[in-house]
Amino acid sequence: MGTQGASGSEDCPFCQIANNQTDAEILLSDDELLCFRDIKPSATHHYLVVPRTHINNCKTLQEDDIPLVERMEKMGRSILEKNKVSNLNDVRMGFHVPPFSSVPHLHLHALAPASTMNFKSQLRYGQQSHWFIPVDNILSQLKTRGEVK
Ligand SMILES: [Zn+2]
Ligand SMILES: [Zn+2]
Repeated sequence: MGTQGASGSEDCPFCQIANNQTDAEILLSDDELLCFRDIKPSATHHYLVVPRTHINNCKTLQEDDIPLVERMEKMGRSILEKNKVSNLNDVRMGFHVPPFSSVPHLHLHALAPASTMNFKSQLRYGQQSHWFIPVDNILSQLKTRGEVK
């Protein structure tokens, strides 16, 4: 379990949320994952899905992590559906590439509707962003190469 052994730092804000040490509202959770709102939303709907286990970022993912990433994507879709996002084509779901990830704990961003994001948000999460890798791209890299470039 290459990437999963890293221990969470006490200072990591997402580990603190996972350990119920904050008042962040947990929207969805299971044994492995949890979902909450991004504190600086860039779209009407902007959620984060994080593993309870501390994993640094998408570059540390390996082939073994494919099922984890797939479950993160599934929870991202679930929270959008639960919040009545009807057009699942107008959605951005993905990961920031370090050093552009603001919190060094693996988190999937789920944003909708993507088409109404402002210019600044497009730079961070849009299709032109070089720092944001869509989840399907991450999955295909893991499946073909076993790593994320
Ligand atoms: Zn953490
Ligand atoms: Zn991020």
